[in-house]
Amino acid sequence: MTAPDGTGRYNHFENGSIYWTPNTGAHAVAGAIREKWADLGWEQSSLGYPITDELTISLHTAGVVRFNKFQSGAIRISPTGNVNVISEVWTRIPIQAFLLRDDNGSNAAEIDGSQVIKWIDYANKVFAPGKIRFTFNPDKDCETLDSTELNQRDLPWAKKDKANEIAAGYPGKIVVFFRAMAAGNGYSWGPEEGIKFVAMPGFTVTSVCGHQNLGQFAHDLGHYLGLPHTFPGKSDFSAVSEARDWLKSNGHFDGDGFGDTPEDPGRVITGQCGPTPATVMFEGRLYAPPRTNVMSYYSDLKADFDKSPLVQILSPQQFDRVYEVLKIRKLM
Ligand SMILES: [Zn+2]
Repeated sequence: MTAPDGTGRYNHFENGSIYWTPNTGAHAVAGAIREKWADLGWEQSSLGYPITDELTISLHTAGVVRFNKFQSGAIRISPTGNVNVISEVWTRIPIQAFLLRDDNGSNAAEIDGSQVIKWIDYANKVFAPGKIRFTFNPDKDCETLDSTELNQRDLPWAKKDKANEIAAGYPGKIVVFFRAMAAGNGYSWGPEEGIKFVAMPGFTVTSVCGHQNLGQFAHDLGHYLGLPHTFPGKSDFSAVSEARDWLKSNGHFDGDGFGDTPEDPGRVITGQCGPTPATVMFEGRLYAPPRTNVMSYYSDLKADFDKSPLVQILSPQQFDRVYEVLKIRKLM
């Protein structure tokens, strides 16, 4: 059959379709990938014609990802059967930064526009495999805000309503409050928690294993975009006994429910700063925690942030969740 564009040719079979053009050659599309492509409008969709037959990538722990590439993207099936359209078009998400100070202009967050850029640059490396890019212009997207009320550690809890109100004034952007406080306590969570912003400490106060924590903003953007920790809970276990109790009552260390991130027993069991063993035995079971995952608390990469080109990662299922939340948050 001739396609409506007059150039392509195709044949539908019981278990798949073959599409041909002089530029792309003939390629078969089948199963759930074909269903999704049909939903989108076949070759008239933004994806265009297939440029490969079905291909596979084997993930180290979680099975196989199957996909067809098209002229302008790909359709992918995760090991658990999620079907996703991967566009060649990048999703750009502007960041709006508030650098907090107290009412009288004192007690400023320990960060400036160029340091916000360092954190965003790193986050962009982490999110690049998902074609997601955060944008930030320090002259236009960065404001100093004098508010003793908001410039507090408990901003994400006690001052949530006021922070949400400010964030609501910036639709289409991710609003980030940088506050004056000691290291740690970057905070955000998925849309179901009613948090419409990211709360961060300053740049210079954050360190991990003796190095600036360049991954912290990427981690908290991950939370904002719906990703839980790889270990169970909103913070890591603080004692081995806590981890043991958790395991007794839950039977696993799966913090995020994603099949392609391995169980994570947390730093208290495995140690945080590298070099550390890839696996650890705990209560008679062997764990291979996701040491390079940005939603973990491990520092194997963090220890080398300033020297190493290595970048923390997100798994395909984590990206699937991020795409869902980008739509819920009207950022995509
Ligand atoms: Zn976290």
